[in-house]
Formats: sequence, structure tokens, C-alpha cells
Amino acid sequence: MQPALGAQSPQNPQAPGHSGTVSLEYMGAAGWRITDGTTIILIDPYLSRIIGPPPPGRVFTRAFGDTRTAYGWDDVAVPDEAAIDSHVQRADFVLVTHTHYDHVMDVPHIALKTKATVIGTENTENVMRAYRVPEDQLITVRGGEDYDFGGFTVKVIPSLHTALDHKHYFSSATAPAGMKAPLTLEQMHPEGGTIAFLIRFHRHQILAFGGMNYIERELEGLRPNVVLVGASPSRKEIYDYTGRLMRELGFPPLVLPTHWDDFMVPYTASQNDSVAALQSFLREVAAVSPKTKVIVPNYFEAIPLPTSAK
Ligand SMILES: [Zn+2]
Ligand SMILES: [Zn+2]
Repeated sequence: MQPALGAQSPQNPQAPGHSGTVSLEYMGAAGWRITDGTTIILIDPYLSRIIGPPPPGRVFTRAFGDTRTAYGWDDVAVPDEAAIDSHVQRADFVLVTHTHYDHVMDVPHIALKTKATVIGTENTENVMRAYRVPEDQLITVRGGEDYDFGGFTVKVIPSLHTALDHKHYFSSATAPAGMKAPLTLEQMHPEGGTIAFLIRFHRHQILAFGGMNYIERELEGLRPNVVLVGASPSRKEIYDYTGRLMRELGFPPLVLPTHWDDFMVPYTASQNDSVAALQSFLREVAAVSPKTKVIVPNYFEAIPLPTSAK
């Protein structure tokens, strides 16, 4: 456990209550905070929400009145440290699903500031190394590991990236060792393979995806009570995406949609279009798994898990 070094607030406002009550908080894009009030685990925390190059096959639309700089692949984008610092005071672990800028860009700043341990692929860790995140904070994984951290465990699950650009997306680019910060967006965007995480924490099993795909066989036998499911429209590239997932996982009691918002607009901008697009996902879950509860998260609003989880 990390001591609360660098904690800015005397009473951590993120603490939901007594230890043992696990809560989740959506931070936009694929970003989540999971905490029992003591240990704080972040997944793909991305708070800068820059106007960056759009994912392949998508078109960028600037939010009305948004005058911020738009960045290209060759630009060095500066993390929005004010946004990060106002929402992330502490972290013990940061879990990164893949090395794309909307997942990894803010992690060096968060790791340096909080001293959190970063669990990710070699590509992700090479981005951390470029920013001089100390080696003892880096745990490099490839998928298949099942690690015990004392208060919780993390099973690393081999996975697949979203089938962007109508399935034409494919990346074998790598982030080499020896890069020096600051990195361009292209340098911090070589996917490097995609993983998912099963986090076992106070009798809860939380399965976290960072995008809209999975390897069905790798999920065999898993019985999470909470699943963060990538829910943007690009899931429709995948055969029976929601049905196969719900059945393979034994119809999980709680699903929290992730990576469904428009992450190139500020937190204050309307997400009405994204919420409207999400409705078909809610219908898919209801059709295949009617007992599953789906909560559409609001940014930074704690979702406490029932304490009676099996
Ligand atoms: Zn990605
Ligand atoms: Zn992404």
C-alpha cells in the first residue's frame, strides 16, 4: 500500500466510506476509479480529453465554443494537469489496457505524482520509462498473469482492440525502449496489444475492458459480478458482441458501459448524442440478459457495489 504522500486534500473526498464498500467512478473514455476508501485502483485514467487525431474511420467534430488547440500525430500534447490534479489526488495502482493516447497519455503524470504502480504491457511501460517513472513502479504483463497484491488480485486477460475503421484497424507498431519525453502523440499510440483485467477486491470480481472487443475463450469460466463493457457503436463490428459476452460470463448482475462517451470534448459538454447511441446497447443487454442491471455512469459519481456480493 502506498502512503498518502502528496495527497492534497486532508480528507480524501473520494473516499466513499468505510473500508470494504467498493465503489466505482467513471472518469470518461475508458477511465475508472475503483476504491474501497483505502486502496485506489485506476483503469485507463484519461482526464485531459484533448482535441487529438480521431481514431481511424471517425470524423472529428469540435464542441461548440471549444477553442482549445487541436493536435496532430506529430505534435506533443500537454496533459491537462489542472484537470488531472482536480480529480486524482491519490492512486495506488494504475491498470492500462493498451497504449493509445486516450488510455495512456495522462498516466506518466499520475504515476509520478501519486507513486502508483503501473500495470501494463511492455509498450505502455516504455512510455512510462520515457517520462522517467521509476522502474520499481512498473509491472509489465502480457496477459495470462494472475497476481496477488494482498488486498486484491489482478488476473490479466489477453484481449483484442476495437475493430476500428470497419475492421481495417490493425497495429503492430511498438513503443521501443529508450524513448525520451516529451513524446509525440504518435509515439504514445502504438497499441502494443490489448489486455483486460479481472480485479478481485473484497469478494467482488470486477472485469474491466478498455474497448469494444474480447477473446471469448479467454473469458471461459469467469463469473464477475461487475463488468465494464466497451459500449461505443464500433462494438457492432463484432459478431453478437453483447450476447456472446453476457452468456460467456454467466449473465453478470451489473454492467457498466465504458468508452462510450465523446472524449474529445470537455467534461462539461453535452453527451446527449453518445447517450442516445448507447440506448441500443442497453436494449442488447436487456434482450439477452434481462436480470442484468446496467447503470449509465455520470462522470465522477461513485457507484457503490452491494456489500452482499457472493
Ligand atoms: Zn485504442
Ligand atoms: Zn480508446
